Amino acid sequence: MRERIDLLFTNGVVVTMDAGWRVIERGALAVRGGVIVASGPSEELSAAYEADEVIDCAGCAILPGLINGHAHIPMSLLRGLVADIQLDVWLFGYMFPVESNFVDEQFCYVGSLLSCAEMIRGGTTTFVDMYYFEDQVARAADESGMRAICGQTVMRMPTPDAASYEEGLGRARRFIEQWHNHPRVIPTIAPHAPYTCTDEIYRSAVDLCREYGLPLVTHLSETAREVVESRQQRGMTPIAYAQSIGAFEVHCIGAHCIHATEDDILLMARHGAGAVPCPSSNLKLASGVGPYKRFIEAGVKTGLGTDGPASNDDQDMWTEIHLAALLPKGLSGDPTVVPAREAFALATCWGARAIGLEQIIGSLEPGKRADITVVELGRLHSTPRYRYTSDAIYSYLVYTAHNSDVRHTLVDGRFLLRDHRLLTVDEQDILARAQAISERIDQFLLQREDNLLSKIVALTGVTSNEIFEVQVKAHIRDASRIESLLNDPAITITKLSQRNQYDTYFSFEDPARGRIRLREDHRIDPGSRIQPKYTITLTEPALQGQHPHAILVSRARYDATADRTVRFYREYFQPDKITSVEKRRRRWRILYQGKDFAVNIDELVNHAQPGPYLEIKSRTWSQSDAAEKAELIGALLKQFEIDDADLIMQEYVDL
Ligand SMILES: [Zn+2]
Repeated sequence: MRERIDLLFTNGVVVTMDAGWRVIERGALAVRGGVIVASGPSEELSAAYEADEVIDCAGCAILPGLINGHAHIPMSLLRGLVADIQLDVWLFGYMFPVESNFVDEQFCYVGSLLSCAEMIRGGTTTFVDMYYFEDQVARAADESGMRAICGQTVMRMPTPDAASYEEGLGRARRFIEQWHNHPRVIPTIAPHAPYTCTDEIYRSAVDLCREYGLPLVTHLSETAREVVESRQQRGMTPIAYAQSIGAFEVHCIGAHCIHATEDDILLMARHGAGAVPCPSSNLKLASGVGPYKRFIEAGVKTGLGTDGPASNDDQDMWTEIHLAALLPKGLSGDPTVVPAREAFALATCWGARAIGLEQIIGSLEPGKRADITVVELGRLHSTPRYRYTSDAIYSYLVYTAHNSDVRHTLVDGRFLLRDHRLLTVDEQDILARAQAISERIDQFLLQREDNLLSKIVALTGVTSNEIFEVQVKAHIRDASRIESLLNDPAITITKLSQRNQYDTYFSFEDPARGRIRLREDHRIDPGSRIQPKYTITLTEPALQGQHPHAILVSRARYDATADRTVRFYREYFQPDKITSVEKRRRRWRILYQGKDFAVNIDELVNHAQPGPYLEIKSRTWSQSDAAEKAELIGALLKQFEIDDADLIMQEYVDL
């Protein structure tokens, strides 16, 4: 009497990824109730089992489903948005502004479903995620039939789904309560990284994971700079910090870890923490290459991930496996490092250990869940096939296999992809929905790239300033003469200051776009603030009204605190021309005839026309006030004994 089962996969190369690296040519795999019952030679299993359905896998390899150990799957909607720029411009100039404007439940759901469809097509059956509105990621995993660990992100900064980290912690707890009994989706909390979190966030996350028996997902040691800063601020590496704060007391899935030190590696091995490098993303963001060989030698539980599709840009685990085999060889000069079967293990049996699910997935062994990928061999790029050594199969899988070679994908013995056809996601529908969201983002970026104001606003809030400005500038011969004339009883000095100002102007070929000024303002008079002040100012093109004694300008001006480097702004705004002006300024705020003016005596540093110059300025919201002030400037010029011939009509930057 043959034993009844649901599915029998026959005539394929069964790559078990069990402890003995067993490979069965003309092998079979038996599945019942979503669980693997047996693997062995095809004839043997055909004789032993009576299957409801027999799937002939001739010319194919039967593999454990691939495990994507680190991803941000809703970010598939940001794929191709911007590339080849510095990490800070990428993050602060693009990802954060777009995320804060567009990431909501709908975005996360559609993006996740798109990613699930992509992963299923590529033979990935399990993923570990970390993003916002994680319940929507969980929903997509549930509907598409995938297995997932879904980490609700928490960080100290406001996020699209939480105004504060306390709110984020609350959201994570509710998410876990709601999902923790799901058969395939493991909800958890994901403190983003040591550099974006506080001790309290990590402690709360560890407590929550312990309470529900969950893994903790976090980023660790992704960049060299992060390690340097962690040492400065906390006196230890991010990995040592994670251990010290208790993160390794639960199963920790540490994304990247590519700048792990030797001590970090031993620490992770001792505590059984998982390390998940993401080769494509680590290369694209120029973060580096993980110490794969040392991880494996030291016994660190190591997996592989794609990271978010905004930095990869796909979720193709075959590419990651390929790179994990190639990169360590290229860097070490040793072709024996990370052989193909080890690279493949990173995405299967070892990857399962890295994410703490080795009891149920990662290999084709009786008792494990039937998460299975069937890959076609014998395509143009994978022919011919040698069989004299069973290890050769790993070469085909690691060095030639593509997403498009995947014929079937199953989770828990259920077909999600069958004969290249997606069964749980409506592919055309999800493509259309993803494109529709991207078009709104495209529009937003299109308008923003054109409009300097919205580019500044995207980074930081701005204050708009008085629209009208009256100003006059003149050459002077003797600055001390002006100083003594300022003591006239008709003039009340309200404030006096001295400063060094370093201005960088960004101009554009199309002057209608306006001009940006970055100012570093150092007060140098005794007793004044010690810290320099950094501002970014956008001036829109001026409508100039000529007044007999002054220039009357009307234009919009916006100010914001500049908290990034000139390099950052240069890459972000991409000006056509950059000009620097450095000046020593003495400034008198005065009242004259009841009106407020600034009188500046300026000397330009390293300039062909260093001055000194006298500048009289005032700003106002009122047009009539501006006209009155222009009149008064005429009187002041007389007071300061300035001839019309000495007047200058340009700004310093235009001199
Ligand atoms: Zn990541």
